[in-house]
Amino acid sequence: MSKILIVEDEEAIADLEKDYLELSGFEVEIENRGDTGLEKALNGEYDLFILDLMLPEVDGFEICREIREKRNTPIIMVSAKKDDIDKIRGLGLGADDYMTKPFSPSELVARVKAHMARYDRLIGSSAQQNDVIEIRGIKIDKTARRVWVNGEETNFTTKEFDLLTFLAQNPNRVFTKDELFRDIWDMESIGDIATVTVHIKKIREKIEYDTAKPQYIETIWGVGYRFKV
Ligand code: CA
Repeated sequence: MSKILIVEDEEAIADLEKDYLELSGFEVEIENRGDTGLEKALNGEYDLFILDLMLPEVDGFEICREIREKRNTPIIMVSAKKDDIDKIRGLGLGADDYMTKPFSPSELVARVKAHMARYDRLIGSSAQQNDVIEIRGIKIDKTARRVWVNGEETNFTTKEFDLLTFLAQNPNRVFTKDELFRDIWDMESIGDIATVTVHIKKIREKIEYDTAKPQYIETIWGVGYRFKV
């Protein structure tokens, strides 16, 4: 279920928005202060934010700015003053939509749905474009050149990444160190097959639970390595 955070100090308005959104199938949380709202926004998992502008402690401008530094979740800003809305637009804080109070709750629901649908398409299409390999606890995004090990993003050097990706996309095939060196390092590279050994060791330290008993990259004695699936 999609989850929405409303940061609004006028409780009657917040409750009304919540009622309408819940009737439309959304899960809704309310914060009445800017500081607690900001904290929740940054630490929780939400699919959309509805931010009032004038709030106790931390205002909607600041909350919007801080959310945008970290994530692209849709933000709808609301204010009682038309002038304020113009001001927010001018600041370019990255809000997706603006509404002047009073507005009809059904109008709010319609806009929430539209922004969520647009955001889902955005996320969906970028995920399709990226070329991703997933093998048990390892996820390699070839397009973004990023790797997650058991859900945690892990940094790899360029060659470590190339070597890991090469093995992972040719699972269960044994490659000799010579083959790997030729495939990953270009002809002008200084080094030899010992370079491959060093890189395999570094990769194992990052992906294996126990490097003495590798679960992913196996050593085939006297031959080379293979990525086990
Ligand atoms: Ca207010």
